[in-house]
Amino acid sequence: MTPHDLDDVLSRRVTVLGSTGSVGTSTLSVIDHAREHFGPEAFPIEALTAQSNVEMLAEQARKYCPARIVIGDHSRYQQLRELLSDTGIEVGAGTEGVIEAAGGKADVTMVAIVGAAGLAPALEAVKRGGFVALANKECVVAAGQVFRDAMQRSRATILPVDSEHNAAFQVLDFAQGHAIECVTLTASGGPFRAWTAERMARATPEQAVAHPNWSMGAKISVDSATLMNKGLELIEAHHLFGLPAERLDVVVHPQSIVHCLVYYADGSTLAHMSAPDMRTPIAVALGWPKRIASPSQRLDLVALADLSFEAADRQKFPCLALAENCLRAGGAAPTVLNAANEVAVRAFLSRRLGFSDICGVVEEAVERLNNQPAGADLEAVVAIDTEAREIADAAVLRLAA
Ligand code: NAD
Ligand code: MG
Repeated sequence: MTPHDLDDVLSRRVTVLGSTGSVGTSTLSVIDHAREHFGPEAFPIEALTAQSNVEMLAEQARKYCPARIVIGDHSRYQQLRELLSDTGIEVGAGTEGVIEAAGGKADVTMVAIVGAAGLAPALEAVKRGGFVALANKECVVAAGQVFRDAMQRSRATILPVDSEHNAAFQVLDFAQGHAIECVTLTASGGPFRAWTAERMARATPEQAVAHPNWSMGAKISVDSATLMNKGLELIEAHHLFGLPAERLDVVVHPQSIVHCLVYYADGSTLAHMSAPDMRTPIAVALGWPKRIASPSQRLDLVALADLSFEAADRQKFPCLALAENCLRAGGAAPTVLNAANEVAVRAFLSRRLGFSDICGVVEEAVERLNNQPAGADLEAVVAIDTEAREIADAAVLRLAA
């Protein structure tokens, strides 16, 4: 394919929400690579946003010259303005500023904010239309129905960036929905796959974030260690692909080479393979429906030699079973699951909670708030999320006492 064929893709204006994080910086590195290949005009940047890392955001602003940048934390606004006073770049702050940037005039909005904090900006990007490259899974888990309604009403195209969902997006034949028997997401098993439950109970934040295959932000790394990440991904797949719980499954695959398998009624199974490198799904999302070059590692199956698969151990990793129950229960359960998990993971990372207590904290919130209907709009979802966080906070305090 010549660069000429890619002109429409390469001229897309890009906004990156969460540009200083793991997915955010990988997105900018894919854009760097495209510029090296196709010239400095590729993927002009409309806006960049971050929560608190002023230095990195200012550095990115000088390099990519976006029309606008936003720092979520108000207290850092003045410092950011001073760092960029000679540039003419518009500087914004606060949650409102991030939401405004999400609704700005980009062609592609990469939602790479972590946690339910990404919900309002993601919905704003969906409402505005265009391409929404969605890395943030928590917003779909917390507000599945609200998100689906917004998707249906807008003319936005959602491009999943989570590697398994990006893989499914590539191998799912959406026109043959009746013939899809099952979509199976693979899980690496995380850093504690071969650990005993006793050893896991003493796991430190450093051990939990040391993922064997992927380099990611702290929150998703802990979720990968508890396997909650895979549970959140099942709920994400349910909403993004409209598949019921019975047609979604998980298999552990320690090498993280096969990311997703789609089983069809005729006995065919289509799988997607790539090296475990987020720059591949990011490039797929930026270039879709065409394909652009990415700097990702290439697969060498002979060097790898073995690909192995095993059943997930739901006794040792109860967060996966809990998330599966929440998917089946529906209603407010996924919102509560996600919110309480964010509280528990933060407490674990700041050494206020043991690794093995994460599940108990989340379970308590889910049990206390069971049978509630799903939030019908953003406000209702935020109310459930807040209540779940209060219950989880109290549970953490009790366990720490
Ligand atoms: P990260 O912690 O490395 O980065 C998060 C980004 O969000 C940062 O730029 C931060 O400034 C911003 N942010 C944090 N809190 C915010 C708030 N309250 N308001 C606005 N911005 C805020 O996280 P990550 O690993 O890049 O993950 C981002 C999202 O992508 C998560 O939802 C994660 O589940 C998903 N994801 C990540 C990976 C990966 O490889 N890292 C893979 C699949 C999916
Ligand atoms: Mg994933």
